[in-house]
Amino acid sequence: MKITEENIGSAGDLSAINELVSKCERCALYKTKTKDVPGVGNENAEVMFIGEAPGKDEDLQGEPFVGRAGQLLTELIEGLGWQRKDVYIANVLKHRPPDNRDPKPEEAEVCWPYLKKQIELIDPKLIVFLGRHAMNRFFPTLQISKSHGNAFRKDFNGRKQVFLALYHPAVALYNGGMKETLQTDFNKIPKIIKKIDEENADNNDNKQEQQKLI
Ligand code: SF4
Repeated sequence: MKITEENIGSAGDLSAINELVSKCERCALYKTKTKDVPGVGNENAEVMFIGEAPGKDEDLQGEPFVGRAGQLLTELIEGLGWQRKDVYIANVLKHRPPDNRDPKPEEAEVCWPYLKKQIELIDPKLIVFLGRHAMNRFFPTLQISKSHGNAFRKDFNGRKQVFLALYHPAVALYNGGMKETLQTDFNKIPKIIKKIDEENADNNDNKQEQQKLI
């Protein structure tokens, strides 16, 4: 089935996105897939985690971040008192590159509209990048060594979106120091959400004040 950017843009909900991904032939990765890995979690999530691409375990199970790195991500989420079903987890690519090779730029480009639409539908308060590859798909000039752990606002999808970059859990698996950094950065998430809520409340108060003045 030929799926156009317009088809993806007019998807009404996440299950419509999943359906399109299951039929997608926009790049060659569909030929080697076992399962589709469009994303998993809460359609109304406040926090959306984004990695680069599914690996072997994800391709077999049809769910992102379920291998060893995924187990660490799950531990970190649960450490905040949340569950995976409270957040949304996705990748830039919806099908696995064979042998876990890096995605080709043209694959990431044709797959991009799916992620963009998922973000539009979920409308998360916070987007968390899992690793530099995912971050650089959005912001090619940022360096993870400087950006990790610092939330920042950028224009995205027509709004001021808040982002947070973290080291990839797979990197932390083999490096104790990195795991500590990841844990420290991860634990900032509730505070960042609280700050966003406070800022939104201030903005609403200001709007109401302005309306009163008018
Ligand atoms: S990786 Fe993305 S663009 Fe390529 S076939 Fe899968 S869903 Fe389509």
